[in-house]
Amino acid sequence: MRTPIIAGNWKMNKNPKETQEFLDGIKGKLAESGVEAIIGAPAIDLSTLVAGAEGSPLKTAAENSYFEDEGAFTGETSPKALSEMGLDYVIIGHSERRQYFKETDEDINKKAHAILKNNMLPIICCGETLEQREAGKAEEWVTGQIENAVKGISAADLVKSVIAYEPIWAIGTGKTATADQAQEMAHVIREKIASLYDQDTADKVRILYGGSVKPANVKELMAKEDIDGGLVGGASMDPESFLALVNYQN
Ligand code: PEP
Repeated sequence: MRTPIIAGNWKMNKNPKETQEFLDGIKGKLAESGVEAIIGAPAIDLSTLVAGAEGSPLKTAAENSYFEDEGAFTGETSPKALSEMGLDYVIIGHSERRQYFKETDEDINKKAHAILKNNMLPIICCGETLEQREAGKAEEWVTGQIENAVKGISAADLVKSVIAYEPIWAIGTGKTATADQAQEMAHVIREKIASLYDQDTADKVRILYGGSVKPANVKELMAKEDIDGGLVGGASMDPESFLALVNYQN
């Protein structure tokens, strides 16, 4: 009952010309998979991405936004403007933003509210470091991140939102969490949502796994009960690879 998602996260890669080349590469090839395909691109590429996605099943995501709609915030991106441009989703709380740009759980919660207020949907990222995992603290850390991120968000808004579990040690490292490890944490996150809201809300919210997902391992991950999709960095950059991910069922 949960529509699967394959969401690309290009990070700080590709310019508008390369974005157009990617769009040309997937043109007319996305229909009928039954999977919601999303591309998250750098701010500079979003006009090209949105124009190229128009009239196609491709959904679009920004990789970040600020939590105020407008004002004296030099260099930031307005969620209101993103919404007016036609973006569907905004990725928030990615570990790279938490690590390099010192984003806090509080920032992420404010961003989630701002995104929903502007009629887009947040893809809320969470995940533990290797140290936290080895110290047996992964579940406590990740459920804490989720609890803080969803504060004040209604059940109606949460079921439309997306959660992405991305163990930091698996991002861009080629080390995938095993499908069992990914399932285990996705299940813990769903249980946390059930305790914060109710079972119905938990059953509806989509939980993605991210961390070195590629065509070779996507099927095994997607077969897991609580994993509803993938947030994919490296393997989402090439049209053929992205299409292979979206068509994982075939
Ligand atoms: C990501 O960018 O969120 C990610 C999971 O990257 P990769 O798939 O390259 O590990």
